[in-house]
Amino acid sequence: MRLILFGPPGVGKGTQAKILSEKLHLLHISTGDILRQEIASGTQLGIQAKAILAAGHLVSDEIMIGIIEHVLGSDAAKNGFILDGFPRTVTQAEALTALLIKLQMKINVVLNMEIDDEMVVQRLSSRVSCTSCRKIFNVLTDSLYNPSICPSCGGELIQRDDDMPETIRKRLHVYDQSTAPVKFYYAKAGILRTIRADGSIDEVNAAIISMVTQL
Ligand code: AMP
Repeated sequence: MRLILFGPPGVGKGTQAKILSEKLHLLHISTGDILRQEIASGTQLGIQAKAILAAGHLVSDEIMIGIIEHVLGSDAAKNGFILDGFPRTVTQAEALTALLIKLQMKINVVLNMEIDDEMVVQRLSSRVSCTSCRKIFNVLTDSLYNPSICPSCGGELIQRDDDMPETIRKRLHVYDQSTAPVKFYYAKAGILRTIRADGSIDEVNAAIISMVTQL
């Protein structure tokens, strides 16, 4: 099974991808997480990417396609994967199609997760994530004993640099301009399925599982 989770920032792609990867035994490939790891390790790529992420812009297609070629060509991706955050431009989608032909692989479905902009801003501005286990929490809806300590592993909970209101608006604009057109690319290919993603984590997950098992 090879899935793409598609949708605006804050729609819950990362949260759902983590749950699905465990339930369906698929590799979770988050290009945002890969970039944040590069930043944390201070690599050349990380140094380049840091300011781009903080401003809510997109990292270049060339760099992102290079990353995906590397990951999809690895053994870890052989038994199926969930792409979360890639492709984000039509150029990336075209490059992915060419790469998958080369690897003799096919995407089963592109899950287009839809939500209103207001809810995105509300969710992202109260989102924190664990620097250790990478789990995501919401300080408003998850009753956290301490808002800076991960209830799962005791690691440190932090807010992402790009989850500030100004940057969230920038990211939504970038999504509308550069990423939303990718929907039409996959609609034309006949593999796009749309679900509402404004329910609870469990509700959205159940909707995804039911859609995926009907494939
Ligand atoms: P995410 O964690 O998916 O919200 O990604 C965080 C940030 O990483 C984005 O706002 C972009 O700056 C960058 N990024 C992640 N994936 C891509 C991609 N496929 N193309 C370009 N930039 C990306």
